[in-house]
Amino acid sequence: MRICFIDYPNIIRLNPNIPYKTRGNAAVALRLEVPTSEYDAVKEMAVQTVEESSEIGEEATDPAVVFVKGEPSSAVARLSRKALTGIVSVAEAVRTLRGSCGCAVSYGSGLGLVGALAAVGETLEGDYTYELIAYRRQENVGKPRLIDEDSVIKMDRLTSPSTFNNYDTEHKRVLIKPHGPDPVLLGLRGETPEAVHAAFRLLRIHEPIERWVIFRTNHGTEAHFKAAQSRPSLRANRPVVLHGAVYRRPTRITGGHVFLELLTSRRVVQCAAFEPTGKFKEVVAKLIPGDKVTIFGGVKEREVDHRLSLTVNLEKIIIERLNEDVVAENPRCPRCDKRMKSAGRGQGFRCPRCKYSSPRAAKQFLRRNRNILPGLYIPDKKAHRHLTKPFSRYGLEKGRWEGKPPSGTWHRP
Ligand SMILES: [Zn+2]
Repeated sequence: MRICFIDYPNIIRLNPNIPYKTRGNAAVALRLEVPTSEYDAVKEMAVQTVEESSEIGEEATDPAVVFVKGEPSSAVARLSRKALTGIVSVAEAVRTLRGSCGCAVSYGSGLGLVGALAAVGETLEGDYTYELIAYRRQENVGKPRLIDEDSVIKMDRLTSPSTFNNYDTEHKRVLIKPHGPDPVLLGLRGETPEAVHAAFRLLRIHEPIERWVIFRTNHGTEAHFKAAQSRPSLRANRPVVLHGAVYRRPTRITGGHVFLELLTSRRVVQCAAFEPTGKFKEVVAKLIPGDKVTIFGGVKEREVDHRLSLTVNLEKIIIERLNEDVVAENPRCPRCDKRMKSAGRGQGFRCPRCKYSSPRAAKQFLRRNRNILPGLYIPDKKAHRHLTKPFSRYGLEKGRWEGKPPSGTWHRP
């Protein structure tokens, strides 16, 4: 009997804007070559593992396992694309699974079925990245993670851009460790299995590691925007990509959030850049009417003046063309330097202080410095979401997976 992995285990992130998601809206797919005689035993093992390691019966714990033989059908692949950019119902997932002769075990509301089937159908044929996840011993879960910060900084310097989002230099923050009381010690993201493994070995970690696994993922690939690009409609809880012109000067509200109105070919769209996005929101605040931009974000329902309206939470912006920022100012008085006032239509200007008047004086037009440049802007690293493509990945996008056998994927000391 021989059971082989034919791919790294996959972590697939789905629509990040879903309101009822599990944390991070992720699902795992294992792709195995299994002798027919062992098929039932493998299924049994998978179900047993999920039952043992899930908090079944807890609220909002709806795990599921699906089993699909052979290549995922085009219907399953379609469902995956929809789960990345839209909302898939449990009934829809069940129908698709039946049509593919698959089977499933699910608990709770059945919502887990959607994610599980979507993960099976996303075979990462386009861009992808890797993540090495190291796990903690049960007795350490909930305690501070003992990872030497200096070793993270050094590792980042030595391995970037083959690895990404390790350390936020600006805010002096270690990004590889999560913050919740979960069994994950750290997650190292990078372009190749070798890169994440080498980076891992550069870390000084002062607690025992229960095990580590390298996953192939869609982290950092902005897969949700790729799939959303062909659909410029605004619907709640979905990613959207829109092209347009800035309609009004952005406004800033308490808390530091910046709001922007974008005029598309169809309508005026409300957009928001939130405080944690750091310098990103400052760039948005500098936009002026007439600037041509493409915005990327998630559509959310927000209450404005007791009415629900749709707002795009900005995750990326491309400034294509900056408008000239020209302001008209009244001329200054040549005698006392006070700014003059209009003396009436066609009658020039008059000084309110010394009463000097000049029928020939006219408004002065000033071009103000914009202090921003056209280009691509994304939030500060600390505000990156799982699918956010960091700057360092531009130009490193991959094509079809070569399908190297995943030796060295698993390690348990
Ligand atoms: Zn004057």
